Amino acid sequence: MSILIYAESAEGKFKKVAFELASYGKKVAASLGTTVTAVTINAGDVSELSKYGVDKVLKVSSDKLSKFTAKAYADVIKQAAQKEGTKVVLLSSTTDSLYLAPLVAVSLDAGYASNVVGLPVSTSPFQVKRNAFSNKAFNITEISTDVKVLGLAKNSYGVFENASSLTEEDFSPSIGDNDFGVKVESVEKVTGKVTIADAEVVVSGGRGLKGPENWGMLEELASVLGAATACSKPVSDLGWRPHSEHVGQTGKPVATNLYIAIGISGAIQHIAGINSSKVKVVINADADAPFFKVADYGIVGDAFEIVPKLTEKLKEF
Ligand code: FAD
Repeated sequence: MSILIYAESAEGKFKKVAFELASYGKKVAASLGTTVTAVTINAGDVSELSKYGVDKVLKVSSDKLSKFTAKAYADVIKQAAQKEGTKVVLLSSTTDSLYLAPLVAVSLDAGYASNVVGLPVSTSPFQVKRNAFSNKAFNITEISTDVKVLGLAKNSYGVFENASSLTEEDFSPSIGDNDFGVKVESVEKVTGKVTIADAEVVVSGGRGLKGPENWGMLEELASVLGAATACSKPVSDLGWRPHSEHVGQTGKPVATNLYIAIGISGAIQHIAGINSSKVKVVINADADAPFFKVADYGIVGDAFEIVPKLTEKLKEF
């Protein structure tokens, strides 16, 4: 009875969340006195997982699974869990995994807890701590089913090296045509740029930047910091930035180490999506902007003066 993690990859490379999930899985496995098995789908070289404590990998390679299809991927994870006799299945909180986790839970007749933060509060009864109400509160959820599915909140645990000797096994689950009821029309390509999901630092701009022509200074700051760029909802609604950069309650959630908000007022719907970030820096011309109430560091002033100066200073390091 090992713990099963779904180690997500894109274009043959593991996403950072795969390493976070492996680190977390190792710790949960230790508390249950068991080992960690990862199931991978078209992930290429899986040996990197051994750095983070994975003991065994079930490697699935299939052209049929070259594009993400929720039902088919969920079926693979279910069959891996059944093969291993797994009682705890761990997934991340990426868009794909948020889609997969309930499907996996239903197929295994398992209880599902999303947005889990921290290690289980208790293993008997099995209780986990979860973010609730757009991360404004926590709750403790007890799962009483034999098999449990947990979705770990992104960036809530961290990545820790913990070397293990890894066994690799090719795994060929049966995938039927019924698994492909939804056709994937397009796939977001991995570019050289840091994605919001993988970023340690996010530089985000709001309507205070006045127009898309002013995003150059924000991109330069992001480039110096190795950061991803993001924006508030109106900015993407206005077409100044792509919708994929919209963060907040109705956009992408952000849980980075450092979130820099420039010309963003700090509306409740924006804060709801970013308040799991560890350090929040706010640059705003209005000293009464609500964002300052949740900021760790704030600069009151004109972004057009401050951001270029900040970028120049950071280049010195
Ligand atoms: P504004 O509110 O216009 O703020 C601009 C800020 O820039 C101001 O604080 C101003 O002082 C500052 N500023 C102006 N000039 C400068 C300058 N030169 N230098 C520095 N600062 C300057 N919003 C989201 O972001 N994400 C969401 O997911 C989201 N979901 C929503 C869901 C619902 C159901 C609803 C009703 C709203 C949602 N919103 C969301 C919108 C949200 O309520 C706010 O309207 C939005 O966040 C405001 O965006 P903003 O801060 O960029 O713009």
